[in-house]
Formats: sequence, structure tokens, C-alpha cells
Amino acid sequence: MKKNQIVDLKITDLSYQAMGVAHYEGMTVFVNNALPGEVVTAKILKVKKRYAFAKIEEIKKESPDRVTVKLNQWVQTGLASLAHIKYDKQLEFKRNQVVNLLKKAHMKNVEVGETLPSPEQTGYRNKAQVPVREVKGQLEIGFFRRHSHDLVPLTNFFTTDPEIDRVLVAVRDLLRKYQIPAYDEINNKGEVRYLDVRRSKATGEIMVILVCLHKDFPQLPDLAKDIEKIKGVTSLILNYNPKKTNVILGKTDYLVFGEPQITDKIGDLKFKISPESFFQINSLQTPRLYNLAIKQADLKPKDVVVDAYSGIGTIGLSVAKHVKSVRGIEVVRDAVKDANANAKLNGINNAKYTTGKAEKIMPRWASEGMKTDVIFVDPPRKGLTPEFIDAAVKTKPKKIVYISCNPATLVRDLQLFQTKDYTFNRIDPVDMFPQTPHVESVTVLERTGK
Ligand code: SAH
Repeated sequence: MKKNQIVDLKITDLSYQAMGVAHYEGMTVFVNNALPGEVVTAKILKVKKRYAFAKIEEIKKESPDRVTVKLNQWVQTGLASLAHIKYDKQLEFKRNQVVNLLKKAHMKNVEVGETLPSPEQTGYRNKAQVPVREVKGQLEIGFFRRHSHDLVPLTNFFTTDPEIDRVLVAVRDLLRKYQIPAYDEINNKGEVRYLDVRRSKATGEIMVILVCLHKDFPQLPDLAKDIEKIKGVTSLILNYNPKKTNVILGKTDYLVFGEPQITDKIGDLKFKISPESFFQINSLQTPRLYNLAIKQADLKPKDVVVDAYSGIGTIGLSVAKHVKSVRGIEVVRDAVKDANANAKLNGINNAKYTTGKAEKIMPRWASEGMKTDVIFVDPPRKGLTPEFIDAAVKTKPKKIVYISCNPATLVRDLQLFQTKDYTFNRIDPVDMFPQTPHVESVTVLERTGK
């Protein structure tokens, strides 16, 4: 097999990154955007020892699950790499990821629920972080083509709240008006690197963050005055990121105008969110995810609860009024400040959040003799660590509720829990990110020993 070779392929499967999978002369070929059941003529892009990547030249037989995507760029940029698949098939795809990982790990007798659909399938994101670059002599916002840093200019981001798209475009136009240069990542020059916009569906408040190479620039006062006039914008923050790096946000924020935080709601609770703090992206699906987790936790008024990887405390504070106490752990200092302030804001005085790594704090608490009843964990993609799992188990909780955004690390961690007297019998996938391959899920582990 050679690069640029043209081959006819029958697609038999979908990879976890949502690429079509075909077999050809002993090689596995991953075909961008192709679907199972399709027959395509494809061009080979890259050849490795046992597998290759290809792109579709022509679809000879089309899958009935294919939908036409209005803007092909959404799929191309990876912004919505499942957008060409019917929504019910997306849900099935996500459930299958979990089923297949369990099978590979030889874990039997586990029921995998139907993926809980998202109330909104487009426009659901309450936050967008979009790169700003110069394309053909003009400042553009958009998204990088997959596996590259070529900006594809966009004004409709499809999965983002349309009110956020409106603000992104208005700010882009102002950057053009004041001739503020886009960031040039090759020479680490220019000015605006990213636009980061958050909007609360509950309050309508909008925070705009300009990620800039400098702390200040001559046009900033005039630009700020005009941004203040954009409907709904309640604060402007300049995030200072002088480094030559792919990391989006720098370490320092300067408040240009308005409130330093945006206020949002989950259920009856109010939350203030700082620029660096994590907040669930899909506002309407979040309470449904939490309810699924909390219902199965079966909390009692005497319970001592831990909220690990807490962000701004949304899970712990949602249950605080029904339990004895909540202790939270989160590594981002501002998020912990937000969590403790959010407890006060909601009249909760039995919840306390601590700054630090969960894998450091939990062992400390365990060695101090802490006993818990229920532990909620909601780690990033890399999952938990053995140190955390050891320590969590030592505090003898009846239940550990695992909210996962990566089924591969979830299954790895569940295997370790099983060796420590904890069992589970079902996993419920939840669609937090329609049109993308991300799989969120809830699993409840119960203690079997005494
Ligand atoms: N439970 C929250 C946040 C989940 S996102 C919610 O539902 O909104 C995961 C959180 O874990 C992020 O806030 C991230 O900053 C935090 N985090 C990442 N690594 C961590 C670690 N090693 N220890 C503690 N928190 C960590």
C-alpha cells in the first residue's frame, strides 16, 4: 500500500474516534467520515506498518445512517466529527464504546444502559474557545483543521449557543475595525490569540475573555467601550499569555470591565464561576447527569460525602442539604475559592472545599482516620490514580459514584476497584456532547466487604 493510492473499501466498523474502519490486503484502514456499511473509493493519506489513514474520494454505497451536514467544515475541523451520523446512531455509537471496552476487559454481567440523549443536539455549549488568526490578510475566527494548526474561518460554531456565536462575530468585527493584529504563532507576535466566551442560559450573563500576547495594547480602551455595547455582555477580561505555547490560557487575568465572575444556575442553586474554573458545558443536560448520579447514591441525612475533582462544587453543593457534611477536593485554586463562596451564596454551611491534587489530599484524609459514606469522583480524561483509589477505599464508603468522561480509563479504574471489595453491575452513558465522539457515563460502585 502506498501514499496517494486509490482503493475501493468496504467499511465494517467505526473507531472510537469515529473513523470508518476497513480491511485491505491485511492492513486496517481508517477512513475519515466513512460509516459502517458504506462502500467508498478512498485515497491513502498515510501508511504505517499495519494500518493506514485514508480520505473519501467518492461514496459508492451510502449508509442509511448518514445525514447531510450543512457545513462540511464542522466535520473537517473535528468541531463536530459525528455530525454526519443520525442522532440515534450517535447514541448507539457511544453505548457501544462502553460495551466494547467491557468486553475487551472480560468484564461480564454488566448492564450498559441506553445513552441518555441530550435535550439539545446543537447549540448546547455554554462556552466557546476559538482561535484568532490571520487568513489571506484578514483577521478570522474559526477552528483548526483536524491534526493541524490551519485555521478554517467560521462564524457558525454549530454546537455552541447561537448567542455566543453572535458575540464572537461581533468581537471579531471590532478587532478588524481597530486593526488589532491576530496572533502569529510561528513568530510569537501579533496580539489576540483566542476569544473565550461564556454565557449562562439561566441568567443571560455573558463573559468575554480576550487571550492576548500582551497585558495591554493601544486600542484596548476603545475596543472595550465597543464590547460593552454588545447586547448581553456583562464582563470583559484580558487573559495574559505571553508564551510560545499551545496552552490556551495564560496565568494572569485582568478585569477590564464588569463582574470578575459569571453567575449560572443548576437546579435551585446559584453558582459564580471564575474564568479559570471548570463548569459543565451542556447546561440542560448537566442536571440530568447529576440526578442520575445522585439518585443512585441513595444519600442519608447522616452521610459524610466527598466531592472529588469538584470544580466549583456543583455536585457536592447539590447534595449538601440532604447529608451531614461535604468535603471537596479540586486542584484549581480559583475553582476552590468559587466552591467555598458558592456554598455561602446558597446558604450552605456544611460543605468545605480544599485545594490540592485528589491523589495527595485523599491519602492524607485517609491516614487521619477519615470515614466516609459516599464519594463522588468526576476526574478529567486520564481518570483516577491507584493512590487515590487506595485511599478512597480506606475510608470505607458504602458507595463510590464515578462520573467519567473517558470510558477507557473508567474501565481500567473499575478493574482496580474490583480487587478492593467494590462491585458494580451497570454503567449509564449520558450524552453531554452531541455531534462529538465524547462519552460521559455514571457508574455506582458498592462495597461488598464489611
Ligand atoms: N465535578 C465538577 C468538575 C469536573 S471536571 C463538575 O461537575 O463541574 C474535573 C475537575 O477536576 C476540573 O475542575 C479539574 O480542574 C479538576 N482536576 C484535574 N486534575 C485534578 C487532580 N489531580 N486533583 C483534583 N482535581 C483535579
